[in-house]
Amino acid sequence: MNKSNYMGIPRGKIEWYPIIDHDLCNRCYACLDFCPYDVLDKNEKGDIVVKNKENCTVFCQACRHMCEIGAISFPNKKEVLSFIKSEKGEYDERGQNARI
Ligand code: SF4
Ligand code: SF4
Repeated sequence: MNKSNYMGIPRGKIEWYPIIDHDLCNRCYACLDFCPYDVLDKNEKGDIVVKNKENCTVFCQACRHMCEIGAISFPNKKEVLSFIKSEKGEYDERGQNARI
């Protein structure tokens, strides 16, 4: 799958990625071990960081389910969907990247 765009929209314009609550996170690293797309990493202090936002598959929330204490959340799906729909219309009108 070409991860540089999603439905013809540049991936970088789509705000979809995990958000880590560092107050809750117990550094079990289940999320890091699980995600195959190199989205997450740990910094020098051992905190989970979102290293490659754009590698995150749009609307995937699999790592959230791996986190037993609920330290991972995501942006509002309805808002992101609505953004994608409006942007897709624009890109299609311009005749750019109508399909992935
Ligand atoms: S799975 Fe949850 S608790 Fe474990 S490292 Fe990831 S965010 Fe932290
Ligand atoms: S949502 Fe999916 S692709 Fe994104 S970081 Fe989590 S497991 Fe990886």
